[in-house]
Amino acid sequence: MPTTIQRRPAQAVRLLQAADLKKLRWLVHGFSARAGGVSTCYGGKSLNLGLTSHDTAANAERNRKRLLLALGAGTKARPWPLITLRQVHSDLIHVVWSPKPGKLSGDGLVTNLPGVALAIQTADCFPVLLVDTRNKAIGAFHAGWRGTVQRIVEKGLGIMRQEYGTRPQDVHAVIGPGIQKCCYEVGDELRSQFESQFPYAHELFHEVQESDPVREKYPMLFMNARAPGHGDLCIKLHLDLQQANRRQLVSAGVPKKQITALPGCTACNTKTFFSHRAEKGKTGRMMAVIGLF
Ligand SMILES: [Zn+2]
Repeated sequence: MPTTIQRRPAQAVRLLQAADLKKLRWLVHGFSARAGGVSTCYGGKSLNLGLTSHDTAANAERNRKRLLLALGAGTKARPWPLITLRQVHSDLIHVVWSPKPGKLSGDGLVTNLPGVALAIQTADCFPVLLVDTRNKAIGAFHAGWRGTVQRIVEKGLGIMRQEYGTRPQDVHAVIGPGIQKCCYEVGDELRSQFESQFPYAHELFHEVQESDPVREKYPMLFMNARAPGHGDLCIKLHLDLQQANRRQLVSAGVPKKQITALPGCTACNTKTFFSHRAEKGKTGRMMAVIGLF
């Protein structure tokens, strides 16, 4: 009897979306994860969307086409142009006037042009998408700690106001997957940078006691006669970058109920997401994409 080799069906592209934006028929949006791609350099098959040194440009290109198709951004024969940036952790935002804007450096894109897909690439930093539902204008931003402390999202709202007459009360925002406070250990110098910018900075930093399995197993060994403060557990500082961006949006006037912060930590869930920190730099890139019909 002839044997048939069963080909495993390709995994579907996994998209994370905000419920309120999903309802808007004139909008496409979504955040990619690891699943659904053709890249093999990051373990299994993955949807690497970045032009990284480990993967081929052809793979990234195929993955990008799969993503656009999964989003409904154009057809297989004619996908929408995907507008990407050479991201530099800045507060530089570009207004997209044409489907072929050329090579852009910066960390934010805004447009009211239909039929183009704005994209932000991440692997721990937070992508933020904004939609002005009254004027049908959109924005996509890359918010790592540098962009956040430079108020990239607030500046993006300012540019949307200038260009399209956007009012914060008409804006719906989604903060995509990134490294959460459970894993985002930072240096003390970041605290002073945030404190110099935001009155609520103290709420964004958390002191975490590093656990030590030896101490937990043999606590008696550590009950010595040392002066207090000596031999104490190490205290690490963790930053809640997702909350920092949510607060920035709220202070800029975006109603709380119109802000969605997607759950999940990239560094805790490397099966689902790419994480630069957890995978020590050898990782792919996810994309946050938004576009107008
Ligand atoms: Zn985590």
